[in-house]
Amino acid sequence: MSVYLSPLLRAVEPYVPGEQPRDRRYVKLNTNESPYPPSPAVLEAAERAAGSLNLYCDPTALRLREAAAEAFGVSADMVLPVNGSDEILNFAFMAYGHAGIAVPDISYGFYAVLAELHRVHRREIPLRPDFSIDHRDWLNLGRTAVLANPNAPTGLALPLSEVEEIVASNRENVVVIDEAYVDFGAGSAVSLTKKYDNLLVTRTFSKSHSLAGARLGFGIASPGLIADLTAVKDSTNPYNVNAVTQAAGIAAFGDNDYYMANCRAVAAQRDRTAARLRELGFEVTDSRANFLFARHPGVSGGELYEKLRERGILVRHFSAAPIAEYNRVTVGTGEQMDVFVRAVEEILA
Ligand code: PMP
Repeated sequence: MSVYLSPLLRAVEPYVPGEQPRDRRYVKLNTNESPYPPSPAVLEAAERAAGSLNLYCDPTALRLREAAAEAFGVSADMVLPVNGSDEILNFAFMAYGHAGIAVPDISYGFYAVLAELHRVHRREIPLRPDFSIDHRDWLNLGRTAVLANPNAPTGLALPLSEVEEIVASNRENVVVIDEAYVDFGAGSAVSLTKKYDNLLVTRTFSKSHSLAGARLGFGIASPGLIADLTAVKDSTNPYNVNAVTQAAGIAAFGDNDYYMANCRAVAAQRDRTAARLRELGFEVTDSRANFLFARHPGVSGGELYEKLRERGILVRHFSAAPIAEYNRVTVGTGEQMDVFVRAVEEILA
């Protein structure tokens, strides 16, 4: 850090993304990407768009918004495309953080970083001992709520009826539901954005739609909230979604069946792998996401992480005390999960 840095930023500890190692080939189960490539139509659209990279992209991303609106069943003024869903979270903290925020005490680490960055008061609401969210703790908060559903890294999902109760009881404030993992088996609150003008749903194409490297996410909300967030976007980075990504996103909406089939395949591998891990003595949460969250009484979280790494398998280990015994394992293809399970069997033996 230089002597020139703003004193306000000195205390901010940046988010540490999962490793993207280049030193050797790993079975990469650490950052919840899709194991499947983008569809051929997406690759073609991206290549075509690359031919016009000398021009600025459409700052309103109109065609992408229209495609998204149709897919999500809302109007185009209810969608804001963003540079990965991290960006819409950042916009939401800027726009609605003044009210203070509530987040689960165990959740996506980026929320705490954004709260520090924007000097937003953060109240952490404890999960139950089994990591589930008691939705009654989230009623009438008197501040902005930020919840991942399914939650990360636990994978546990709230039923839609409980999400609706939270939104309905907090009409004075915005409720952000981060649906990064919703396509792998949880109920989406998108349709509720037409009923509640205080609900912001965030989505990403990084996991379900094989576009993590393209950086594409969406905010879906009432026209009023989307106007707020668009003003923040236009005040920070008007061309936030680049031309290649806009074209890829439009084509991906056109190939939704391909992506949903991939999500179902991942969910099937998740459930198969979870069952095998339980047979091996692991405690595994009932994940509705594209990752598993598991611990074993016989091997520490850190040790399992290290031993898998030595065998060329990368998973995600968090050192924070309440979850240090766990590892988060992205669900890949059947072959990748076979390699993972064989390595785990070897380590336990
Ligand atoms: N929300 C949650 C819960 C996540 O785990 C992630 C992935 N790191 C994101 C949002 C952001 O994903 P992206 O910026 O790639 O859309």
